[in-house]
Amino acid sequence: MADEKSFLELIEAWDGVGVVVRYDEPTGTWIFIALHDDTLGPPVGGCRMKKYARPEDGLHDAMRLARGMTHKWAALDLPCGGGKSVLAIPGPLSDGDRRGLLRRFGELLNVLDGAYGTGEDLGTTPEDMRVVASVSEHVVGIHGIHGAPSDPGPFTAQGVFVGIRSALRHRHGSDALSDRTVLVQGVGDVGGPLARMISKAGGSVLVCDLDQELAFAISVEIGGKVVTQDDVYRTACDVYAPCAVGATLNPDTIPRLRCDMVVGSANNQLESDADADALAERGILYAPDYVVNGGGALAFTLIHQGERNVAELDRRVRGIGDALDEIFAEADAAGESPLKAAERRVHRVLQNAKKTG
Ligand code: NAD
Repeated sequence: MADEKSFLELIEAWDGVGVVVRYDEPTGTWIFIALHDDTLGPPVGGCRMKKYARPEDGLHDAMRLARGMTHKWAALDLPCGGGKSVLAIPGPLSDGDRRGLLRRFGELLNVLDGAYGTGEDLGTTPEDMRVVASVSEHVVGIHGIHGAPSDPGPFTAQGVFVGIRSALRHRHGSDALSDRTVLVQGVGDVGGPLARMISKAGGSVLVCDLDQELAFAISVEIGGKVVTQDDVYRTACDVYAPCAVGATLNPDTIPRLRCDMVVGSANNQLESDADADALAERGILYAPDYVVNGGGALAFTLIHQGERNVAELDRRVRGIGDALDEIFAEADAAGESPLKAAERRVHRVLQNAKKTG
């Protein structure tokens, strides 16, 4: 995965602030904390727990994901830097070993004294974060507030929902969902609430999920239709909302897509950046994933920073739609893909902060 690069080669080639590496002897786990950029504030990003073929691949993943967080925070203009941690486990851990590892990870966060804030990510659960938080205050999203969802999914779904509205406005001049069909791929923590929001707003929903029972249950609940795995990339719809796995936009799927726009929560939807140009060439409007899927991270970070007003959290998450309005307009004006416009926005925000900071 990391092109077989060594630890030293990976660190030499990286443009980030630095990495913290620790080997957790009791569990045989490599702990990597990648701090990519602190221009806007201390790095914040989730903690991934996963078995990698080589420990170096875990470091590479942490670096790649930390850079993605820099983009996400800057696109949303939040006072956070890009960071991510990886617990590269040697294999499944017993409950006791897992808790021990998480507590030691929390103690390492305390040594960093706020230079990095963590949260849930792939392979870690809310319960894992409670274990880390039992020894460290540097866990984002652990203290819910009354009236707000206790998991980030509904906030993320809200961000995708306003993103879909932004894309519809841009393409059709109206963000009404009444005559529109949205295909939601993956109806879990994000896709489930999203499908309900679209249906409530009068849109038609097509549902696809590996878990057939879940897909069926949600489609019955909202009066939608189930689309099979085989049909997902060739089904006509207005909006394709990938809310399951990454890399579903690639040279194999893009020529087959029968949608006007792609707006979804999945991370790393493009197999490569060139796929953004391929979508633009086909006239398919692509909402950059790291902008659209920032609702949960945004809300939880604001809560961590002391925001207690649910209406204000909602307002800030809705700001994702405004950011996308600007990105789409800038892309059109420059004759480029929305991905390039989003990258320019990130660069601008970071440069301005450097000048004024
Ligand atoms: P989840 O695990 O709760 O739900 C994912 C759903 O997708 C599951 O129901 C699963 O069965 C289904 N699925 C998996 N592979 C599939 C496939 N190939 N085709 C169809 N369905 C498939 O995950 P989630 O929290 O809803 O996150 C969904 C995506 O959004 C992920 O890529 C995640 O990284 C990203 N994301 C989530 C959040 C959040 O707040 N949860 C924030 C940012 C990004």
